[in-house]
Amino acid sequence: MAPLTTLNVGGPARFFTLAESEDQIISAFDHADRSGQRVFVLGGGSNILVSDRGFDGLVIHVRLKGIAFEGDLITAQAGEDWDPLVEYCVDRNLGGIECLSGIPGSVGGTPVQNVGAYGQEVSERIVTVRCFDRIAREIVELGNAACGFTYRTSIFNTTERDRYVVLAVTYRLNEGETPNINYKDLREHFEDRCPTLSEARAGVLRIRREKSMVIDRDDPNSRSAGSFFKNPIVATGVLDEIAGSIDQPVPHFPFGQNVKIPAAWLIEMAGFEKGFRLGHAGISANHSLAIINRGGATAAEIVDLKERIQDTVSQKFGILLQPEPVFVGFD
Ligand code: NAP
Repeated sequence: MAPLTTLNVGGPARFFTLAESEDQIISAFDHADRSGQRVFVLGGGSNILVSDRGFDGLVIHVRLKGIAFEGDLITAQAGEDWDPLVEYCVDRNLGGIECLSGIPGSVGGTPVQNVGAYGQEVSERIVTVRCFDRIAREIVELGNAACGFTYRTSIFNTTERDRYVVLAVTYRLNEGETPNINYKDLREHFEDRCPTLSEARAGVLRIRREKSMVIDRDDPNSRSAGSFFKNPIVATGVLDEIAGSIDQPVPHFPFGQNVKIPAAWLIEMAGFEKGFRLGHAGISANHSLAIINRGGATAAEIVDLKERIQDTVSQKFGILLQPEPVFVGFD
């Protein structure tokens, strides 16, 4: 499965099917159930780590294609690549997802982890998610509230994990909307000037490229699953403890009653500089939050580095960093 993932790591699938229609997805599930196979639903492969053994079951690669407009609503099938969709919308002067430029993966993955960046989240734009319900064995349309969106989560990756297969997503975008540029990287890039939608997209792409966070065959630092750890949300008491143990300001952002601390900062302060290497795995030279395959890495090597980082950060700060990618075939 390695070539189907952005980390380019992982063994084979026991069975594999490419699904280009809703009917093919449903019949693949019927087949798996009849033969007692486990199923893994693969989208863009940008947020997974597949074990060296691979996946002992059926992998269904969702490749449903199509984009349709109706007024200010845009419906994209789950197998559409995300970034070309953003480009398509920005080119039509439709605002609301321009800060999500350059994010790898497919449309179907966006509601699952409520993809967000630079202050925008897909949940602010999602109207409905069309799904195959594996329990009821029927196609359902879930409204925004039913998806239970919170920071990088939804029912799809928490309470109802593995129940729904995303088939299509409908977003509501606004023509000519002013781009949101609250984040420091963007403000600095535009020197506090308000950009157009296409300028915002170009700015985000440039910032992400500088951090090797845009997939590029010519950039070995981009051979990753994006951010490998979630940015931890902790009680203010934890922040105070960290601040008392270190001789410099701790970056943090309010999050309800709690605070969000950049995982990248914790990793660097725990002694992992950008470009750190462990076997064929490493930390990107351009972003300490990305674990990369330096060439020929095994999943075991990626896991070794992940554990080394988790243990060291936990010993130093008492915070157990949670991985963001989905681990496939490890049980
Ligand atoms: P970054 O911009 O350096 O931000 C690091 C951390 O600081 C994030 O937790 C970010 O919150 C927080 N932060 C920075 N400025 C903030 C502000 N003005 N208000 C509130 N919080 C602020 O992070 P990066 O790693 O280079 O990534 C760039 C963006 O892409 C970030 O927004 C990041 O979350 C996003 N991203 C998303 C995914 C995903 O959806 N799975 C994966 C990779 C990166 P936020 O996380 O709330 O932005």
